[in-house]
Amino acid sequence: MATSRLLMKRASNKRGTTISLPKNLITNIVARVASHSLADLVNLKRCCKDFLDAAEDDFAYKHVSLLHKFPLFPWRPLNDKKLSFLKRCKESQNMDTLFREGLLEYLRGEKISGLRILKIVALKGHKEAKYVYGMIMLSSEDEELRKEGLEHMRFLRESKCVIRCRGKVEKLVQYAWKKNILLHNKKTLCHNKSICKGWRPREGRWLLLDDEDDNNDNINMCEYCRWDQELELFNIH
Ligand SMILES: [Zn+2]
Repeated sequence: MATSRLLMKRASNKRGTTISLPKNLITNIVARVASHSLADLVNLKRCCKDFLDAAEDDFAYKHVSLLHKFPLFPWRPLNDKKLSFLKRCKESQNMDTLFREGLLEYLRGEKISGLRILKIVALKGHKEAKYVYGMIMLSSEDEELRKEGLEHMRFLRESKCVIRCRGKVEKLVQYAWKKNILLHNKKTLCHNKSICKGWRPREGRWLLLDDEDDNNDNINMCEYCRWDQELELFNIH
């Protein structure tokens, strides 16, 4: 971000001119600035023609990261500038926007259409969508759907980002999760709780603190117990 600011400052001294950087680098800078601040994006566009062109490019809108910028349930309605920015992101097939839309529909009770969108985004590799869709599937009473959920959660665990995804989703949905998401299957994923050796984080830890703590491939550990714990951890927050 500091690099982007420096470039913005340098370019602003030569308004109307171009800068000699590869196009993909310029586009990445624009996407990063837009992820950070819409006001900075406006300033960047004013800097020079290259940034302006890149900011109009679908690529920048497609890749901008916006989950942390737009809570699902903002205290105040979004202003026109923000709404039009979100609209443009959606038109550019931005995955964060589609994830937001699917989650909102699901939480508002449109569960079938919400899940349909969440599944599409999860299959495209969006990690937070994989987490939400995976958790909902793990909560299902249908064994086949539970298997589907397992595939998504395994992907996240292999990518070492289960806990990070949980944190981001919790921050995004806040209180709405507990009220609206049906974690209704009381049957644990592990069917042998009484004799199972269970699962625990790295030795000496009581709770999962970060994704490194999840790096436990000991074959004596039970993977199903790991996901039973994840369902429990998510529900108590
Ligand atoms: Zn077990």
